[in-house]
Amino acid sequence: MTELHAAPHDADAIEKVSREFREAFGSEPEGVFSAPGRVNIIGEHVDYQQGLCVPMAISHRCFVAARRTDAGVVRMRSVQSGETVEASAPGLAPGAVDGWASYVAGVVWALADRFEGGVASGVDLLIDGYVPLGAGLSSSAALECAVAAAIEELCKLGTTPHERIRAAIKAETEFAGAATGGLDQSASILCEEGHAILLDCRDFSTTSVPWDLAGQGLALLIIDTRAPHSLVGGEYAERRAQAEAGARALGVESLRDVPFEGASDACRGITDPVVQRRSRHIINEIERVREFAEILETGSIREGLARIAELLNASHDSLRDDYEVTVPELDVAVEAAREAGAHGARMTGGGFGGSVIALVEADRVETVAGAVESAFAEHSFTEPVFFLATPSRGAGRDR
Ligand code: ADP
Ligand code: MG
Repeated sequence: MTELHAAPHDADAIEKVSREFREAFGSEPEGVFSAPGRVNIIGEHVDYQQGLCVPMAISHRCFVAARRTDAGVVRMRSVQSGETVEASAPGLAPGAVDGWASYVAGVVWALADRFEGGVASGVDLLIDGYVPLGAGLSSSAALECAVAAAIEELCKLGTTPHERIRAAIKAETEFAGAATGGLDQSASILCEEGHAILLDCRDFSTTSVPWDLAGQGLALLIIDTRAPHSLVGGEYAERRAQAEAGARALGVESLRDVPFEGASDACRGITDPVVQRRSRHIINEIERVREFAEILETGSIREGLARIAELLNASHDSLRDDYEVTVPELDVAVEAAREAGAHGARMTGGGFGGSVIALVEADRVETVAGAVESAFAEHSFTEPVFFLATPSRGAGRDR
């Protein structure tokens, strides 16, 4: 039987991170906090053109046990890295630490102007994460947002969720030096159980939309293809540049501004055929997201299932043909899932590797996962890893 990689029960994870804290730092934590990874259901490669997307939080979370100290240092330990890293609390600035600890210290730094003396006196942070690293499920945002929740609560900063989202983004871009658009952090902080969010990347406003998979007898299977991310830096920058060229050619600030009606005629006016295809993907994808969110806002997933499936499939096909960000592993997983009866399947995340999602009947999960596993074996691909995406709560205090 194909194995589904399950998240631990919250109570067990909280117990474990508390124990790890005691063993590492020799005292009880003041509190335990956590934040989820996320999966984007639809709306891919549209964030940098001010588009719309619909992410959901998953049940795989990053837990942080924390305590304020008067040692003048930020002490950080991660169970996953097996390391303890220290940084001077008053001297915290980009470059002070690197690697995984920069995501943690970056959040403390990004929130620093909000506390009067509080954290400058020091904090101990013990991290235990269950979001797989680098699978496209945003372990980095889960880590940042859990730390932001910890600092907010322990130091009683009074920040708003959006201020914490901005701090997490700032930590990742300015302190850890990684590129992030903000989708991950918004989802990790704002999502609610049984819901997804419609995120408007123009102003980062969000609307919670019902996404009660279990209540409708459905499941969202995540397939981590484990395909190696190749060329991703250069390709990503190139797609962004092509999208900008498309917006310039159409005389708009962003492709979000192109009305969907008449868009295909307008796109034909773009002389560069590659830029034309890239622009077409973004305009169509934004429209797909609009329709998708509208279905969820006005009815149940079950009632809208046929159209939801078409939108998911069309999203993948567009990413494969117009945006050209898929790799064979992604396409094979999508094909195998569809053939085994998935209602819809698409790559999720930036592409060039990463994960696929498949919307399936709850009692077909094993069958679909098994079919993907067999297809991967036939192609001699690395064995994929399967998860269930359970729409979960956003970042917060657990104890
Ligand atoms: P993704 O966010 O898709 O999982 P990223 O490359 O953005 O992939 O982030 C992964 C990085 O985040 C890791 O390489 C590590 O530096 C950091 N990270 C995430 N979770 C943890 C953790 N539990 N412990 C240590 N580092 C972590
Ligand atoms: Mg990340």
